[in-house]
Amino acid sequence: MRKQNLPISAVLLLTLFTTATAADKAPAFARSDLTAAATLRERALEDPTAYQLIESLTTEVGPRPAGSPGDKAAVAWAVREMTRLGFANVHTVEAMVPHWIRGEAKFAVLAPYPQSMPTLALGGSIGTGSEGIDADAVMVKDLEALAALPAGAVKDKIVFFSNRMDRTRDGSGYGKAVAVRAAGPSAAAALGAVGIVIRSVSTSNHRFPHTGALRYSATAPRIPALAISNPDADALVRQFASGKPVRLHLDSSSRDLPQMRSANVVGEIAGTDRADEIVILGAHLDSWDPGVGALDDGAGVAIMMGAAKLIKELDARPRRTIRVVLFANEEFGTSGSLAYVAANETNAPRHVLGFEADFGAGPVWRLSSRVNPAQLSAVDAIFRALAPLKLVRGNNEARGGADLEGLVLRGMPILEPGLDGTNYFDVHHTANDTLAQVDPKALQQSVAAFAASVWLGAQYSGTWERVAEPKAPRR
Ligand SMILES: [Zn+2]
Repeated sequence: MRKQNLPISAVLLLTLFTTATAADKAPAFARSDLTAAATLRERALEDPTAYQLIESLTTEVGPRPAGSPGDKAAVAWAVREMTRLGFANVHTVEAMVPHWIRGEAKFAVLAPYPQSMPTLALGGSIGTGSEGIDADAVMVKDLEALAALPAGAVKDKIVFFSNRMDRTRDGSGYGKAVAVRAAGPSAAAALGAVGIVIRSVSTSNHRFPHTGALRYSATAPRIPALAISNPDADALVRQFASGKPVRLHLDSSSRDLPQMRSANVVGEIAGTDRADEIVILGAHLDSWDPGVGALDDGAGVAIMMGAAKLIKELDARPRRTIRVVLFANEEFGTSGSLAYVAANETNAPRHVLGFEADFGAGPVWRLSSRVNPAQLSAVDAIFRALAPLKLVRGNNEARGGADLEGLVLRGMPILEPGLDGTNYFDVHHTANDTLAQVDPKALQQSVAAFAASVWLGAQYSGTWERVAEPKAPRR
């Protein structure tokens, strides 16, 4: 529009209108905050801190399942590293965690074509006893197919769940496929089965079985549960396809020990004029034991610590307090997250905005949210500030991760820089979750997306209002 072509009265009106609008609605972000966001974005793309943190965690601590010596070492590591990076108020929040011992597991086809296959017990599985279990097997696709079998069909048998997980960028294939791992053991036991084996909830065609927690129901007997890799599951499907009876052998020395004390580790960058408001950055410190938890969730730990470290190095300090929480025991019942929420029950409303990184080492490809609709324009402004990272604008239905669930259920808004999960489930919960799977450039891009959006979340000129209708609980 060229103003000089308009009549004077129209120009006056336009000027009045523009002025009134500007006075009613301050910009979401000061120009200096947007400049600092650009600085963070650019520095993150060159900063080695996050990669060095994963390197250190996976080398010096390694596997850190709940209750293990590695779990304890990880807590000490996090306190040390947060202190070294200069975070304020570094402290731990105690959490009780299960202490399950994996032991050794063996899996073999006894008939029709005998061979053994690599296997992993599902987390929490009971053992088989030293003799193992030999039994005829029944193959079903999933829980629905199991429920549709005639009565007695799996009595005294081993159930093999054959369903394959779909590969997706946003991880939605996992949510659909993981039900057999969690609920399969008790569903089969309730029908009289003596054990189960599942096709790994994985997208890899390598021979790495995938572990992860099962959930025994209180009403069914506890039976052993193992997982085999995708190629071995394919081979087992072919054995069934022969039409001959399939007989399997399961052997596992898994067992439970009494609960252990562990801890969430917390560190902050103190806020200024809005210091009472907390922007929380969550990731989990524990990992499964077959690998070293580089992607799950060493990457999340490193992204959050790396982002906070860059914000700390700015000349400006954040308005709101930025709090990094590395949660204990996400993998085996989220008892760290539950302990954090219990310790912060009265403080829950002070947690005004949440970020969680628990989906690998990036890159970030999308920005989604779950905010009060009144703040969607602020999310749009944050999205524009991330433009050089070439993200897709997601919707306002983000679910967040497991560790922030308790706070989200209490109405906390979340911003979700979405990590690309296309290859995540090739590695997740397998022996192959090692540093070699981390692409340093993708990791740096992820730190850039988190650092800039966390910073702007902490500087927002308005109020992050509560989300009126928190999402439904996961289960
Ligand atoms: Zn995880």
